[in-house]
Amino acid sequence: MTFHIDFILKTLEKEVSGYAVPIVDLIAVQTKDPFKVLVATILSARTKDETTARASARLFKKADDVDGLSRLSEAEIAKLIYPVGFYKNKARYLTKLPEALQAFSGEVPDDIDSLVTLPGVGRKTANLVVCIAFGKPAICVDTHVHRIMNIWGYVDTKTPLQTEKILRAKLPTKHWLRVNSILVAFGQGTCRPVGPHCDSCVIQEYCPQIGVTPRKSPQARQKARSAGIKKFISWNVNGIRAIEKKGFVEIVREMDPDILALQEIKAQPEQLSQNLINIDGYQSFWHSAVRKGYSGVAVYSREEPLHVYYGIDQKEFDEEGRVLTLEFADFFLVNVYFPNAAYGLKRLDYKLNFNRRLLDFTNDLADKKSVVICGDFNVAHKAIDLKNPKNNINNPGFTPEERAWMDKFIESGYLDTFRKFHSGPNHYSWWSYRFNARAKGIGWRIDYFCVDKKSEDRIKSAAILKDVMGSDHCPVILDFK
Ligand code: SF4
Repeated sequence: MTFHIDFILKTLEKEVSGYAVPIVDLIAVQTKDPFKVLVATILSARTKDETTARASARLFKKADDVDGLSRLSEAEIAKLIYPVGFYKNKARYLTKLPEALQAFSGEVPDDIDSLVTLPGVGRKTANLVVCIAFGKPAICVDTHVHRIMNIWGYVDTKTPLQTEKILRAKLPTKHWLRVNSILVAFGQGTCRPVGPHCDSCVIQEYCPQIGVTPRKSPQARQKARSAGIKKFISWNVNGIRAIEKKGFVEIVREMDPDILALQEIKAQPEQLSQNLINIDGYQSFWHSAVRKGYSGVAVYSREEPLHVYYGIDQKEFDEEGRVLTLEFADFFLVNVYFPNAAYGLKRLDYKLNFNRRLLDFTNDLADKKSVVICGDFNVAHKAIDLKNPKNNINNPGFTPEERAWMDKFIESGYLDTFRKFHSGPNHYSWWSYRFNARAKGIGWRIDYFCVDKKSEDRIKSAAILKDVMGSDHCPVILDFK
């Protein structure tokens, strides 16, 4: 299969002309103002376009230029731009921006080296501003460009910075200005991070689809449903209110699970918006920790369960909101957020006690019908399940004690469904927020779907949705009949 970048980008330029225009491009076209493009670009990081559009409009109404921005306090800016992602940090950057621009006579500079000296401006933002605000050749490699270029095999890189370097050497200059806008629109519309729409993609016949799990076409999904195959997804969202601002509800619609099990929701139901409680087509069940902003699990289900069990009948664990079980006619779904052994292994004993109680609980259920246990187990079972096993022996999540329990759990008659289909290394579901670990591929596989061995023939497929962003974990998936 030959891959002609000129032909591909020309085809996609035509294709995305009917798509929604990325917000930063829109602001550039409408205002032709580098200051507004810079501010909107800063706001747009880790934020949905609609949210960026509304926040930018509110801010520009009060501060049309650098002088206007200098008259606003950090608290006023934070209030105007809320709820963009990391709005407090962004408010702090924007408060400092007018003073930083003094070094450039109050104007937005038009070169990358100068731009990256401004608060809150990294290479990606700088490249985008140079391209969009000034029409100068630069390559802005955001998550879509990095991801899609790797899917095409046009680059083979781990980080956006590596991708940028290779594209600077390889991509014909005539594409530099437009490649970001084309691939952002294409990445939001067709080649999505979650289940790309390969079935309707205009370049499908030329795309090698490297590392891609395409969505099931609506027809195939319907066929699987008719055959009784259910799609279960488990995801540690690391704060459901935080992830709501990053497009959680849209991601759920896109993933289209029959059951979605969440861990670490860090909220009580009364703190949640109706958008979260009532996602169309689902019933939701919540088991929060007594302590506010801590732990907690939830399950969304298309089908109404026969019973819902909150906890495992032991107060010291149940008050941390760690287990939520839904019973259906022919299986139990047990959603678990295992404790973290914690720094200095201060909670290792607590965790091992929890693990023992949980195993008794699931064994009792398995005597009655199939059991699907999913969640954040907070342990990498084997050396293959994390990038740096040698450096992590005796660290929380990889201690001999935690791993020994996992051995015992598996020996008790449960299957790690992912390993049934994927035996190789470099499959991870959690990455530290520090040191750019996710971009560098330094991760751990600590999120699992396990099924009792007697029900093995009900397991149809299992995977990790590594490209789904929004949390320091990504979702894991099980197709179950
Ligand atoms: S075929 Fe699929 S993976 Fe390839 S570009 Fe199209 S949507 Fe993306």
